[in-house]
Amino acid sequence: MSHADHGAIRITVLGSGTSSGVPTIGCGCATCASTDPRDNRLRPSVLVQYGGKNVLIDATPDFRMQALRAGITRVDAILLTHAHADHILGLDDVRPLNYHQKMSIPVYGTSATFDIVKRVFQYAFTTQPSQSSAPRVDLVEITDEPFDLFGLQVVPVRLMHGNGVTLGFRFGDAAYLTDHSEIPDESKARLRNLDVLFLDALRHRPHPTHSTVEQSLQSVRELEPRRAFFTHICHDLPHAATEAGFPANVRLAYDGLELEVER
Ligand SMILES: [Zn+2]
Ligand SMILES: [Zn+2]
Ligand SMILES: [Zn+2]
Repeated sequence: MSHADHGAIRITVLGSGTSSGVPTIGCGCATCASTDPRDNRLRPSVLVQYGGKNVLIDATPDFRMQALRAGITRVDAILLTHAHADHILGLDDVRPLNYHQKMSIPVYGTSATFDIVKRVFQYAFTTQPSQSSAPRVDLVEITDEPFDLFGLQVVPVRLMHGNGVTLGFRFGDAAYLTDHSEIPDESKARLRNLDVLFLDALRHRPHPTHSTVEQSLQSVRELEPRRAFFTHICHDLPHAATEAGFPANVRLAYDGLELEVER
């Protein structure tokens, strides 16, 4: 994996699948049985690289495999969108990075996200001595205020995920909006003039906490990014057949997809 040029941001899709991944355990449907590599979807995450820094958005249960597959040897920061299992359970796998980088890793998230992270990974936050190793992370609490990350402004984008709240993130001319059922109006103002927009698009059938393909196509029409990529995809959507019906500027994301945007 090459480092991004100083002036550009490189985005690599590490996982484009929904919470159970595709193929799904015990399923023999056409998508799960597909030989198209784009129908193999690990849990949802992207790597954002700029200025020699590697920033991970979400640490999935597949993080170990994603890091090995993408050749990731260093992570400088992790941004958490929310605390559902498919977005945080890979945090234990930063232990080898702690060892190689000789440092704890800053993790950015909301106080609500951290309440759950501290409970799930209680062993990483206790002061009790232990014979076992634990991930070393520094929790950096954020709200929806923009913040600086290694010289780049990151803009959190508040999203509704059913009754819950998640954060999307805008960096430069790109935005990554995973798990959401609705983009509030005040958040739409942060999503203008985008080159690249990632959107949750679980499936065609309605879901209480996720955007459907049709809802995300509507978001694309409204927000008018130059390019849009749908992610958090379940096995209802075979890659080639689903994409065939899309406008030219909308594609399904797939594991290993790499993009470059201006910062
Ligand atoms: Zn999810
Ligand atoms: Zn299936
Ligand atoms: Zn979720």
